[in-house]
Amino acid sequence: MRNFVKNFIFVFIFLFLVAAVLGYVKAGKDKSPETVSISKMVEEINANQVKTVIIKGDTLSLQLKDEKAKLQEVLKEQNGTFGEIVRNYNVSSSSLSQLSVEVKNDSSWKFWLGNLLPILLPLIIFILFFYFMTRGVQGMNSKAMGFGQSNPRQTNPDDKNKKTFADVAGAKEAKQELVEVVDFLKDPKKFTEMGAKIPKGVLLVGTPGTGKTLLAKAVAGEANVPFFNMSGSEFVEMFVGVGASRVRDLFSKAKKDAPAIVFIDEIDAVGRRRGAGMGGGHDEREQTLNQILVEMDGFDPNLGVIVVAATNRPDVLDPALLRPGRFDRRVTLDLPDIKDREEILGIHAKNKPMEADVSLRKVAERTPGFSGADLANLLNEAAILAVRRDKKKVSEFDILESIEKVLLGPERKNRVISDHEKKMTAYHEAGHAIVGHFMPHCDPVRKVSVISRGSAGGYTLKMPTEDKYYHTLAQFRDELAMMLGGYVVEKTLFGENMLSTGPSSDLKNATQVAQNMVTRYGMSPLGTRTFGDHPENVFLGGGMPEQKDYSEKTAEAIDKEVSSFLAEAEKRAKEVVDSHRPQLEAMVKELMEKETIEQDDIQRVLGPRQ
Ligand code: ADP
Ligand code: MG
Ligand code: ZN
Repeated sequence: MRNFVKNFIFVFIFLFLVAAVLGYVKAGKDKSPETVSISKMVEEINANQVKTVIIKGDTLSLQLKDEKAKLQEVLKEQNGTFGEIVRNYNVSSSSLSQLSVEVKNDSSWKFWLGNLLPILLPLIIFILFFYFMTRGVQGMNSKAMGFGQSNPRQTNPDDKNKKTFADVAGAKEAKQELVEVVDFLKDPKKFTEMGAKIPKGVLLVGTPGTGKTLLAKAVAGEANVPFFNMSGSEFVEMFVGVGASRVRDLFSKAKKDAPAIVFIDEIDAVGRRRGAGMGGGHDEREQTLNQILVEMDGFDPNLGVIVVAATNRPDVLDPALLRPGRFDRRVTLDLPDIKDREEILGIHAKNKPMEADVSLRKVAERTPGFSGADLANLLNEAAILAVRRDKKKVSEFDILESIEKVLLGPERKNRVISDHEKKMTAYHEAGHAIVGHFMPHCDPVRKVSVISRGSAGGYTLKMPTEDKYYHTLAQFRDELAMMLGGYVVEKTLFGENMLSTGPSSDLKNATQVAQNMVTRYGMSPLGTRTFGDHPENVFLGGGMPEQKDYSEKTAEAIDKEVSSFLAEAEKRAKEVVDSHRPQLEAMVKELMEKETIEQDDIQRVLGPRQ
């Protein structure tokens, strides 16, 4: 509303100015009198050339007898009257009697406007210009002043969207750890009277989507205290020194509202190991981190401010952050197991109408490795699918269908592929499926499809029957064979010349697995040790070569072992393919017809696993 009024006034002034200018220009064009000197006027009067003299304020307008001549204007001195001029210049009375003298009221607004506008207009424009300029600058200034302010997102206890532990499924251990924190925030005195030291900082560790942010909010909600939420990257901005002052500001706000929770999300953005060298030792980040440390050391532990931070990369954090008295509690959030997944699905299914026969247990079975965020996303996709199908409720089928979408990206059904390419894809995927099916340590193949999804031309989906935390050598070997299944089929059936670029990502993944087997898990004859320090991807985007802690000779040996794992896998895959050609052809036929085949059909076509 205020804006509207402002705009209205602005437009009004603008139109007024335009009108005034136009009017002025127009008036000027009509008359545009010529200015002459007093002596010229006297001369003309004496020569009897003047018809009328119009006295208008300080100006005298002369209308000559010659009709065509321009109007002439004479500026007389202020206070001097026409009579005085006539007298002073000795104008002959005979010529005076010949002309008529008119006195006009000069206070007409047009006159004033005409005279003042040329001066005022530039001035007004100038002033307006400056007004808006300085306002802009002031805006920028106040922003610059505000840089030091933290502006955290604050959630207060009476917030409607507040979260509690009931909103977080699973994560039992994490919740147990945090209950203590909640208790303290609720009644700090109880603890301090007992002489107990209160934790200052809690670090939530877990892969993305496991509910770290959610859990931190839930802690605040449970404890009924204000929650100040800032992300690590928000501290660091263009200007040096901003981060540190934001930290200061954030903590002083929290202290004012104590007991309170300060939540620093993605703390690795500022809390990286100092002097790690990459990016030239980012000064700004270091200062921010130092300020966080100073603040955490500085406040009285009994004040009731608890700092919760979250990260998915604890390995890159500065050791100083993890020292006692800082983030001395560490709470790890794991990927949910099958029971947790079912619970998480339950929470997110609450606000969605579901068919009565939907078994969330079955969905949980089909989604090992999914994080809480993935599961929430899954149900959302399922709901969207149900809407698209004009249904009133979400069915199990909708959910199961959405699993692949979450895993592999949306189907690209309308990508036109030639029959030939489709056939190539069918052979390739059937190769994966058949090898996977007949390798005893591979997870069961759940689905094979020649419909492209995301970047994949087709896909073969295998899923463990239960959650797995460890991998054995036997599993790795079988998986390697399965990974190469597509490549082997192309090579044996179409010949080396017909190998395509299709399996390149298969080869890359297989090589990676084989390398890990040798260098990280000690699964090769090279022996019981790891090779190279594998920093868990120290800097975003990876790119940093692993630290070599072995000789060139060993490097050669490693290469040899990796190649030998791959060669063995290829050989085993080829054996399976060669001995099951009829089944392979049957599967390709089925794939060409149906495009996607499910577990039951796979077993029907391929026969029992051995
Ligand atoms: P993180 O911070 O660990 O990356 P988030 O806390 O942002 O993950 O989680 C993203 C979303 O995933 C949450 O908003 C929530 O909807 C869902 N989610 C994750 N974990 C759980 C859980 N244990 N229970 C319920 N929902 C969860
Ligand atoms: Mg998060
Ligand atoms: Zn493949």
